[in-house]
Amino acid sequence: MAKAGKIVVKTPLVEMDGDEMTRVMWAMVKEKLLFPFLEMPLESYDLHLKHRDETDDRVTVEAARAVTRLGVGVKCATIAANEDRVREYSLKKAWKSPNATIRAFLDGTVFRTPILVKNIRPSVSSWKRPIIIGRHAYGDVYSGVEIRVPGEGTTELVFTPSDGGEPLRKTIHAFTGPGIIQGIHNTDSSIESFARACFTYALDRNVDVWFSTKDTISQTYDARFREIFQREFDANWKQAFEKEGLEYFFTLIDDAVARVMKSEGGMLWALKNYDGDVLSDMVASACGSLAMMTSVLVSPRGQYEFEAAHGTVQKHYYKHLKGEVTSTNSMALIFAWTGALRKRGEMDGTPDVVAFADAVETAALGTIEDGTMTGDLLALADPGPHNRRVTTEGFIDAVAERLAREL
Ligand code: NAP
Ligand code: MG
Repeated sequence: MAKAGKIVVKTPLVEMDGDEMTRVMWAMVKEKLLFPFLEMPLESYDLHLKHRDETDDRVTVEAARAVTRLGVGVKCATIAANEDRVREYSLKKAWKSPNATIRAFLDGTVFRTPILVKNIRPSVSSWKRPIIIGRHAYGDVYSGVEIRVPGEGTTELVFTPSDGGEPLRKTIHAFTGPGIIQGIHNTDSSIESFARACFTYALDRNVDVWFSTKDTISQTYDARFREIFQREFDANWKQAFEKEGLEYFFTLIDDAVARVMKSEGGMLWALKNYDGDVLSDMVASACGSLAMMTSVLVSPRGQYEFEAAHGTVQKHYYKHLKGEVTSTNSMALIFAWTGALRKRGEMDGTPDVVAFADAVETAALGTIEDGTMTGDLLALADPGPHNRRVTTEGFIDAVAERLAREL
């Protein structure tokens, strides 16, 4: 405890601010839930779209470097720019998604776990335990290159060896009219890190690993993922898994989707980058709302970046700008902070910081379980005599009051 009775965080946390409604909530969470209780050094990077533009996106790279250096970061949701956003914010160009930049930098795996509360039942009635999605966070379409083919002509895939050997080439398609092509890649070493991260995290959480790709169709690309996972499992994890009574199970992605819908949950489902992007949103919304999904990017070197799985909640932000009352759920943002604080506390050997993170989560869960929640959840919750819809700020205030009582 520090002089003012505040809990001291030893090493600076890397904090990345973001855009729109999540930026509004980010400031409230810090002001109402963290700063009153913590003496917390921050290394702050402002990833607001306009600031990324002003720095030619250098700020994103600096933030990623800081996470590498200090080991733990927490990130607000950010706009991934497209043509509409270029016009809206008068940008120099449509900068790459900050998440893609940071993921590529850390070569990490993203694990997403739904936040379960007693009074909201998953829409898939068989699910009893959370499904953790392990999303590979490198390569595939997120660092793909694409060409809009203007007309008749041939397209080829070419590999040119650096040692001067014969190039490898394959025809993609002989176009007779306009079309599109895409080039994507992955590396053996990134897939190995992905496999290791999944097996490590599953052992940590004591759950089975399911892995699924479409290797019947993609017999080189997806098949390589399957081979590497199996090789890594057999060589380094099989014994530890057997000892814990856990299993590694590979199946085709369509089969996996069908089985997951009939399962009780409680497994780590490892997925390629795009599959994980899509299916984590499905699992999140089946468990309540996108705002009830935590997300952590874990690098193979043991660096962690925590964030909410949802975006910047653009529609709510436009309402907020018009002065209308919003009821946006800050749970995932709160859990991003508590995840980061808990990990920081574990790394620093400061159990009071870990206990503080637990206390914030308990207060947040208790607030919802006692009936105080934002509109997205009220529509899903079991009826209760104390159920009431609160505003964005009202929810954070309610958690803060409860936290102050419980600490
Ligand atoms: P979104 O922010 O995830 O929101 C989509 C819808 O989900 C919202 O309109 C809202 O539904 C509901 N929702 C999401 N989070 C909520 C919350 N905390 N509380 C209550 N409801 C919530 O996706 P988007 O609006 O399509 O995308 C906005 C921007 O976010 C885009 O520019 C995108 O690039 C960016 N994005 C960033 C990240 C990231 O940084 N990690 C991830 C995804 C998207 P209702 O409108 O029905 O209430
Ligand atoms: Mg997604």
